[in-house]
Amino acid sequence: MGLKTAAQYIQSLRELNTRVYMFGEKIDNWVDHPMIRPSISCVAMTYALAQDEKYKDLMTATSHLTGKRINRFTHIHQSPEDLINKVKMQRLLGQKTASCFQRCVGMDAFNAVYSTTYEIDEKYGTNYHENFKKFLIYVQDNDLVVDGAMTDPKGDRSKPPHMQNDEDMFVHIKERTPDGIIVRGAKAHQTGSVNSHWHIVMPTQSMREEDKDYAVSFACPSDAEGLFMIYGRQSCDTRKLETKADIDLGNKKFGGQEALVVFDDVFIPNEYIFMAGEYDFAGMMVERFAGFHRQSYGGCKVGVGDVIIGAAALAAEYNGVEKASAVKDKLIEMTHLNETLYSCGIACSSQGCPTKCGSYMIDLLLANVCKQNITRYPYEIVRLAEDIAGGLMVTMPSERDFKSETVVGRNGETIGDICSKYFAGSEIATTEDRMRILRFLENICLGSSAVGYRTESMHGAGSPQAQRIMIQRQGDIQGKKKLAKDIAGIIK
Ligand code: SF4
Ligand code: FE
Repeated sequence: MGLKTAAQYIQSLRELNTRVYMFGEKIDNWVDHPMIRPSISCVAMTYALAQDEKYKDLMTATSHLTGKRINRFTHIHQSPEDLINKVKMQRLLGQKTASCFQRCVGMDAFNAVYSTTYEIDEKYGTNYHENFKKFLIYVQDNDLVVDGAMTDPKGDRSKPPHMQNDEDMFVHIKERTPDGIIVRGAKAHQTGSVNSHWHIVMPTQSMREEDKDYAVSFACPSDAEGLFMIYGRQSCDTRKLETKADIDLGNKKFGGQEALVVFDDVFIPNEYIFMAGEYDFAGMMVERFAGFHRQSYGGCKVGVGDVIIGAAALAAEYNGVEKASAVKDKLIEMTHLNETLYSCGIACSSQGCPTKCGSYMIDLLLANVCKQNITRYPYEIVRLAEDIAGGLMVTMPSERDFKSETVVGRNGETIGDICSKYFAGSEIATTEDRMRILRFLENICLGSSAVGYRTESMHGAGSPQAQRIMIQRQGDIQGKKKLAKDIAGIIK
């Protein structure tokens, strides 16, 4: 099996027995569920674009393990150019979906686990790197989606894992057998978990010796015995359940997805274990995964930003204000902010360097600066988009009103006629098109897609403070003090 088509990917999900719950009930046909399907279509785009000759160089790569053509989402970066292409690919996908396309968490997990397992084996003589390589070849050959699962529920944040009242607040090894381990716990806010074929679990933070049962990394199928997921709500999500929902969704085709993934005593065979107690490497795996995912945001959020800027420009045109200098200036500001984010994504990639096993890492300081900016600029970009769009974005009647045949006017006008009359803007657009662009902006600024563009920009890949700690560590204040002393003539 080589590269899958989008249709083959969707079909492959139907063959899984993944246990998914939503609104307190088991969802048997989750592939076709109207609240889940847009997120599946979004991941499917990572397959569709890889089939397109135009995007082949960006979307595919040559496996350094097998020499075969693989989807870049399953690739181990071999050079700064690979790192740059990753960011460009993510911008492209953001442009095509205006959503979180979810597959990057797996790619970032592959790259973090690949290099970390090499260094664990080097120190302890374990066999994790070989285990991981075999697993990765299977993933590449079958073009699979893998959820990179890091964030534990964490319980009381002031306590380390072993001090928690409930030991399940962090995924841990409950039992060791000659053939493997039994794991228990959960991973929270897991992007793309339901539509992934497999999961790679990693520790969520640095660990000490007392927490060594929590220093665990492994792969397991999404439909493993004992594993289940509870689907996360999004703002305005039930609009997707409305009959013939279209315009009111803002983005009918695509969306993101998060879920709580529960490991209720799941058996992991030895061959799928990548860390089991080597607590001194938990921090390295976390730092690398977070670093790669902080780089990722310099691509994906920028692509979504491109669509928002386009939508704001259209909203201005449809309102007849596109020539106003204030509007032009706002669009310039949005572009400036968006390209600054992209510059950070490209910069941390171009300064990438090899790890001990030969795969390439981003520049950690620049990747953290990238993500820190992501916690701010998208908020400013949507603020400006809302400013340009105007209040109608959130006060407009529903699609059903616009389509209603109910007569309400003295002259026989329907509710639809009244809405179309009073919500018309510039002649260059129909009232429906004006409504479509405003609903799109509503969706991305406040609706279900705001999860991916706003809150995820804040907390995904680590909340702002996590990047500030890394910036402090990597910022070399001592070196900078020395520069100042040398120039100022301070000898001591
Ligand atoms: Fe990929 Fe961005 Fe979604 Fe993370 S937030 S999975 S980088 S699209
Ligand atoms: Fe994310």
